[in-house]
Amino acid sequence: MLYRGSAGKNFPESYAYVHAQIEYYPRWRSRDMASEDSARDEFVARLQARIADLEKQLHRTGPIREKIHKMSSEVVDSNPYSRLMALQRMGIVKDFERVRDVSVAVVGIGGVGSVVSEMLTRCGVGKLLLFDYDRVEMANMNRLFFTPDQVGLSKVDAAVATLKEINPDVEIAAYNYDITTIDSFQQFMTAVRCGHLRGDKPVDLVLSCVDNFEARMAINQAACELDQVWMESGVSEDAVSGHVQLLQPGHTACFACAPPLVVATGMDEKTLKKEGVCAASLPTTMAVVAGLLVQNALKYLLGFGKVTHYVGYSALTDFFPTMSMKPNPQCQNSHCRLRQQQARTEQIVSQHQRKQEPNEHQTALHEDNQWGIIITTLCDHYTNLMCRHKCGIEESVSNEESLEVGAGLHLAYSPTVITSPSVDQVKSVQSICGNLMVPSLQESVDISKETDIQDLMAQLKNI
Ligand SMILES: [Zn+2]
Repeated sequence: MLYRGSAGKNFPESYAYVHAQIEYYPRWRSRDMASEDSARDEFVARLQARIADLEKQLHRTGPIREKIHKMSSEVVDSNPYSRLMALQRMGIVKDFERVRDVSVAVVGIGGVGSVVSEMLTRCGVGKLLLFDYDRVEMANMNRLFFTPDQVGLSKVDAAVATLKEINPDVEIAAYNYDITTIDSFQQFMTAVRCGHLRGDKPVDLVLSCVDNFEARMAINQAACELDQVWMESGVSEDAVSGHVQLLQPGHTACFACAPPLVVATGMDEKTLKKEGVCAASLPTTMAVVAGLLVQNALKYLLGFGKVTHYVGYSALTDFFPTMSMKPNPQCQNSHCRLRQQQARTEQIVSQHQRKQEPNEHQTALHEDNQWGIIITTLCDHYTNLMCRHKCGIEESVSNEESLEVGAGLHLAYSPTVITSPSVDQVKSVQSICGNLMVPSLQESVDISKETDIQDLMAQLKNI
């Protein structure tokens, strides 16, 4: 029994009603026993969550936080938003109150997802959509957020009860199902596409806090189909490393662009689990990863700082590697390839529009020109060519040497190798840009091919 006797206590009316429903529920049994059992479990879990919530209210001694309709920056002890609004006063965030218009879906309310949900709730996010199908267990108590009295409750219902108490301004929707099943996947897609706080439109961001590749691939599929930006997080099985990653369909690598070995080989990850052996987990590592994820989400949603594409965390060495991953043109996911095509088209259109805009730097900055300085402007084609020639940084691979990977690793596909411009390319640029600067391009090609450093030093001395 989750509740104690009511004799002599003034229990709320709804408490007695809930109790009665549990007692008499078996009378409602239908002919379809299998689906009825599952529906009954779900029903009882929700009633138990409600009982736990009512019990909390019954024994509450502190004040109940009322809803606040407008965020205030007033510095008084009773204002839960004064510290957050101070970010605005200090110039870090331009308009912090925008957070109230934001809708975020959190998939997986475990060791990372529950902490992520709490952080977003405390920041006053407009709406949270929580997805999980698991229940709270005593084995979860080494992590943050859930408490022993919530054991047996569904994670989403237990989370809703706690989060609403922390901040009743946040609208919270709970989805108690496994997104990897066919029916639930469609429901998940609908929730992401239409679940925004401000009407029938997509959520602003999806945060993945799941612990398996199957669920990650399901989120990736939905994101590529819906063109939905999402962020992925993970903690290693030995509990001492983790990562967060931004996935913007068409612009950054999707989860299938460079799939983990388990996914690439089509292995069933459930077969990897051994009886009596479980993954390790530390509340510290999970909290660090949750913090990195929410930090990145806030930067993305509120437009401050630099949104990271990927940051890792090695707890044993305190190492935080960062990197960017471009999408794979040969990605297995057709929706990803389509988004890549769209992104390329958008890029070409925006480049064209930039060319059409008047260049304000073309006007003379100074009336007189005492030193006879000539300012030249390179056309985009030429600039791109030079950039590729000199830096080779158009792709994340900077040069051929960086293609080497460590022992035991190999590249799944060959990145584009950027070479020096050919004579034909130079002629092509010359035809587009005219003669301006092109001779120096030709010279730079000749110098790189034919002149060594001693010759260059000799030429410099002559000058
Ligand atoms: Zn992809």
